[in-house]
Amino acid sequence: MLTIEGLTKTYKTGDKALKGVSAQVPPGQVVGLIGPSGAGKSTLIRCINRLVEPSAGSVRLGDVDITRLSRGELRRARRRIGMIFQEYALVERLTVMENVLSGRLGYVPFWRSFTRKFPPESVEKAFALLDRVGLSEHADKRADALSGGQRQRVGIARALEQDPELLLVDEPTASLDPKTSRQIMRLILEVCRERGLPAIINIHDVVLAQDFTQRILGLRAGELVFDGPPDALDEAALTKIYGEEDWTAMRRKAAEDEPGPQSEREMAERLEGLS
Ligand code: ADP
Repeated sequence: MLTIEGLTKTYKTGDKALKGVSAQVPPGQVVGLIGPSGAGKSTLIRCINRLVEPSAGSVRLGDVDITRLSRGELRRARRRIGMIFQEYALVERLTVMENVLSGRLGYVPFWRSFTRKFPPESVEKAFALLDRVGLSEHADKRADALSGGQRQRVGIARALEQDPELLLVDEPTASLDPKTSRQIMRLILEVCRERGLPAIINIHDVVLAQDFTQRILGLRAGELVFDGPPDALDEAALTKIYGEEDWTAMRRKAAEDEPGPQSEREMAERLEGLS
């Protein structure tokens, strides 16, 4: 269980990015974090693993209070938290396989310690993950030879290589076309389901959030103004999060798109089909 309590962040500039956000995410739940630009979504995601230091409040993963850990303890705790980034954060000149294996090392700044020597179990696991995300034939390619969608698949495999207990996902589809975006969101949802892995996904696109997550958190100006199932995100809720707008157009767009796996049953059937 992830428990966020009274999380507050005031940047040195005086920007109050988070004003006492509280939420609990149980095991296996995939949460979409939405809100207008500047609402504090990235800050919230980054405060959870302390890539941004919170000003006040606490974040607990299981019985570990992340906000109270020393640097060394934090490094260990971060191995329990997978992160997927908007711009993939791959190392361009290394191969797909090497990028996935880097998940073992934690975060990108630790690259300096990279020796390219990994135990066979890790390599085996990386192959299985590449297979799972549909990239087994690309293991030896350099990261910079891949398309955006493929790069994000590497990002997903890398996050899973460390066997995380929580996945933090920051705008995974911001650089992708609509169809690839849906494929990537579907893949994230599926791997979370397969592993009972909870995730928080900062997602700009409300329709994608509704189609591929089980619960929506709506942030506005650093405050949580919506917390509920995707179906409850009606015009009144959208107005609360984003302000006045004619929201009927958005639902029309959703209906025209390829439908997402909206029901639990449909999702279970899809997963059965895969196994
Ligand atoms: P979102 O992800 O919802 O677009 P952010 O978390 O990026 O929102 O930003 C929330 C607020 O914090 C904004 O007002 C933004 O300008 C401010 N902010 C974000 N990062 C920094 C930073 N490094 N220094 C100062 N202010 C920041």
